[in-house]
Amino acid sequence: MNLVLFGPPGSGKGTQAKILQEKRGLPQLSTGDMLRAAIAAGTDLGKRCKAIMESGDLVPDEIVIGIIAERYDQPDCAKGAVFDGFPRTIPQAEALDAMLKARRKKIDIVIELKVDDAVLISRVEQRIKDSGGGARADDRPETLQNRLAVYYRNTAPLIEYYKKQGKLVTVDGMAPIDGVSRDIEAVLDRAGRRGCVGV
Ligand code: AMP
Repeated sequence: MNLVLFGPPGSGKGTQAKILQEKRGLPQLSTGDMLRAAIAAGTDLGKRCKAIMESGDLVPDEIVIGIIAERYDQPDCAKGAVFDGFPRTIPQAEALDAMLKARRKKIDIVIELKVDDAVLISRVEQRIKDSGGGARADDRPETLQNRLAVYYRNTAPLIEYYKKQGKLVTVDGMAPIDGVSRDIEAVLDRAGRRGCVGV
């Protein structure tokens, strides 16, 4: 099964992707984690992306499309993957569809985690407090505003894109973590019964 976890910053995509990885053995493919690893390793790609990420803007499509294709071709993705934070633009979604098609695969389901802006902001503020000074470089109140604006401008149009494909399911991302994860499991079980390949 290939699954996209979709939602604004702070909606819980990373948390739920990790739970799915544990429960269903589907690797979490987080472009944000891959880019942060590239920055930490001091690679050329990391150097190109550092300032962009710190400002909360999106790195160029071709960069994330390249790293995701390389990662997806690793053997642990043979049975599928959970895409976390990718795609974030229409060209990325189109490239993902084309990449999977070339491998005779497809996105089976897209789960949107719906969370109100006020809750997103307070969650990220909490994340900053909990980190005790070791927060992600882009977890700053002023950057969060930009990340939200970028989400609504560039990423939210994907809701329509996946609705048209009949793949979008919306889950209440404001419930407690366990509740969200139960709802996601129920969605995947229903999709499995409908015969989505490999769900
Ligand atoms: P995340 O950890 O998913 O919140 O991503 C952190 C930052 O990495 C984003 O604010 C972007 O600057 C960059 N990034 C991650 N994934 C993508 C993507 N699919 N497209 C463009 N930029 C991305």
